[in-house]
Amino acid sequence: MVFGLFKRKDPICGMKEEKGKGIEKHGKWFCSENCANKFEEAIKKMEKRASKSGCCH
Ligand SMILES: [Zn+2]
Repeated sequence: MVFGLFKRKDPICGMKEEKGKGIEKHGKWFCSENCANKFEEAIKKMEKRASKSGCCH
């Protein structure tokens, strides 16, 4: 048995992936453009923070 490989979840609102619905970005599934945008904003914020500190982790 393999868990979690086929069913994906919207990381923003937690909705389960529905075939033929939503959009795929960054290898993740989103129920709507709205959630995808929120996710991208979060990534940008994290990148900004990382570059500000000038450290590589
Ligand atoms: Zn969503």
